[in-house]
Amino acid sequence: MAEMTREAMEYDVVIVGAGPAGLSAAIRLKQLDADLTVVVLEKGSEVGAHILSGAVLDPVGLNALLPDWKDRGAPITVPVRDDKFFMLGAGGAVRIPNFVMPPLMSNHGNYIVSMGNVCRWMAEQAEALGVEIFPGMSCSELVYDADGAVKGVVAGEFGRNPDGTPGDAYEPGMELHGKYVFLGEGVRGSLTKEVMAKYDLSAGKDPQKFGLGMKEIWEIDPEKHREGSVTHTMGWPLGKNAGGGSFIYHLDNNQVYVGFVVHLNYRNPYLSPYMEFQRFKHHPMVADLLKGGKRVAYGARAISEGGWQSMPKAVAPGVAILGCGVGLVNVPRIKGNHNAMLSGIAVADAAHAAIVAGRSSDELTIYDDALRTGPIAHDLKRVRNVKPLWSRYGLIGGLGLGGFDMWTNTLGFSLFGTVKHGKSDAEATGKASAFKPINYPKPDGKLSFDRLTNVAFSFTNHAENQPPHLKLKDASVPVAINLPQYAGPSARYCPAGVYEFVHEDGKPPRFVINFQNCVHCKTCDIKDPSENIVWAVPQGGDGPNYPNM
Ligand SMILES: Cc1cc2nc3c(=O)[nH]c(=O)nc-3n(C[C@H](O)[C@H](O)[C@H](O)COP(=O)(O)OP(=O)(O)OC[C@H]3O[C@@H](n4cnc5c(N)ncnc54)[C@H](O)[C@@H]3O)c2cc1C
Ligand code: SF4
Repeated sequence: MAEMTREAMEYDVVIVGAGPAGLSAAIRLKQLDADLTVVVLEKGSEVGAHILSGAVLDPVGLNALLPDWKDRGAPITVPVRDDKFFMLGAGGAVRIPNFVMPPLMSNHGNYIVSMGNVCRWMAEQAEALGVEIFPGMSCSELVYDADGAVKGVVAGEFGRNPDGTPGDAYEPGMELHGKYVFLGEGVRGSLTKEVMAKYDLSAGKDPQKFGLGMKEIWEIDPEKHREGSVTHTMGWPLGKNAGGGSFIYHLDNNQVYVGFVVHLNYRNPYLSPYMEFQRFKHHPMVADLLKGGKRVAYGARAISEGGWQSMPKAVAPGVAILGCGVGLVNVPRIKGNHNAMLSGIAVADAAHAAIVAGRSSDELTIYDDALRTGPIAHDLKRVRNVKPLWSRYGLIGGLGLGGFDMWTNTLGFSLFGTVKHGKSDAEATGKASAFKPINYPKPDGKLSFDRLTNVAFSFTNHAENQPPHLKLKDASVPVAINLPQYAGPSARYCPAGVYEFVHEDGKPPRFVINFQNCVHCKTCDIKDPSENIVWAVPQGGDGPNYPNM
């Protein structure tokens, strides 16, 4: 093949990902200096198409970025009016009184939002300031300078054949170079992973931990709708099988967000996070709410859960990692959007100061320091033991101890120090021989749905004539190792039914990857027990097309 030449464009700052982190950084840079050249590249077909969050938004980040967001018409109009926690059993529910919850768990002053719509609005604010935003542009490679510093990304490569060779309509894409490159890819970003490995940014840190979050949007009977109501549950149906819980947020227009998070450190490889979610909706409390309503959208996304002790170093020469790439979620609050925004502001401040001083392509250490000493650190440090205590002592013991620790941290001390997370989620997966298969009830098509029916409501699309973006390091592992030893867990942990083991009479089992259905949640890149699956970006514009997720 002839040597590939790509056009290059020069910017002050190149930002990968139009999530709350990337867009906050872009806005802040232009607020600081309107003459800076800033570009944001987004793999979704439009800004917001790949955004999936709960979401109850703590506006602290937005208040710092655009204090007049109300006057600017931000789609943030549903204040939280009531906030309830329940412990579920199979047939009943016990409410946990709000007064036993540490104050940091309160949602008073927060808003129920579609983060997809918030990002669409933030993109408008950024463009009005002169930021260039290109949706439908997957960033597939990092570009390094002669000294090994990151100097840019390759974006917008299209038209490779399934075998990787350039097709007739092949477009090599462009190189976008910056004095600094910000990676705002969110949880388990593919370029972020490369940077973390190249510069060993997780050295000395606990492994990052994750959950899988699945979400449906329902339109329900107006009689049952209570705008501004927030409910969280724990317990049934997960019980001892896994950590996790649900959220039910009533936004406006008779819509309700129904979501379920399963911690990905579960051991039983027969567990299906997706089917746990479907089963959850049959709990009498939830079924009563949803009966007569209809599900209008579905999606899934991993959520980072490692918190304080898992935060990698966030900078390397020429590059900085933002938001959920660093894992800035406060797990008991299930909130990361505010910290994503605050990280965007902090990195923009650091890059601006560096550029003013005539620097480029070095480490923005001021940004890394700000993450570890500023408001994000304050938010994450006091909840650092909740997740590892839950993993160690189970739901009741762990939450009791975690709640106690959050209270003492509110007073400024912890009796536990910093509890370690231990194994990665992939390593936590147990051998099938130690567990029994779980028989999940068949979806009824009214409250619960099979995966492929639900995936149709994520409006996902991938051009078929491109190389599969889900790559196996070793093609023999799924059938030779994962099937006999772990009962083929990818067929269950993927919330979009992408992976299948096909058994045909007289033939050895076959592993099939239906990459067209992938909703970009990243769970396979995290949970595969052999760590054999690598998620890479597909062509720009492919993937889910979420509405107001
Ligand atoms: C189920 C669930 C519920 C949650 N609930 C809440 C909540 O109620 N409140 C709250 O505050 N937080 C919540 N969170 C966490 C919150 O959503 C995250 O903390 C937040 O999205 C992180 O923002 P980010 O900008 O880092 O990444 P993201 O929001 O993930 O944005 C990353 C963007 O980068 C794009 N991108 C990624 N890679 C590339 C690439 N290589 N090239 C081009 N574009 C790329 C993606 O398409 C995406 O648009 C929840 C998360 C989940 C999964
Ligand atoms: S293939 Fe992987 S990233 Fe895609 S939906 Fe399934 S688990 Fe998620």
